[in-house]
Amino acid sequence: MSGRADVVALIRDGKSDRAIARELGVSRRTAGIIRRTVGAPPAKTVYTLTPEQMWHTYARPTYTGGHMDWTGPTNHAGTPVIKRQHVTYSARGMAFRRRYGRDPVGYVRATCDRPGCVAEEHVADAPMRAELNAQYNAIFGGAR
Ligand SMILES: [Zn+2]
Repeated sequence: MSGRADVVALIRDGKSDRAIARELGVSRRTAGIIRRTVGAPPAKTVYTLTPEQMWHTYARPTYTGGHMDWTGPTNHAGTPVIKRQHVTYSARGMAFRRRYGRDPVGYVRATCDRPGCVAEEHVADAPMRAELNAQYNAIFGGAR
């Protein structure tokens, strides 16, 4: 019984006991026993997602303005983050990488005025914000 290769294969795929039971027609208890036998940790649904999939699970587009609200976890400073297997990812850093195809320099912040916004179109790293400020000052005659 404990040698069921089909159950073991799904455990290795990161499926939960419930999903395995549904897929193979075994009981959840059986799936759990086999999981312990092969020494695999209990599967939780959210941990089977990649950070990128988690981002899309947590980010919610607003009705207007093209913003993205964050429904996921935040760090001690209130910055939207994704935590996966002891690694913390910045939600805005991920949006930045997706849009610009490179790692950000310094902190990534939203350039819009919506608190917590993580929209790709609204994030900028430190050099980009400095550039935006310089343009703003050139146009509007900012502080000198
Ligand atoms: Zn925004």
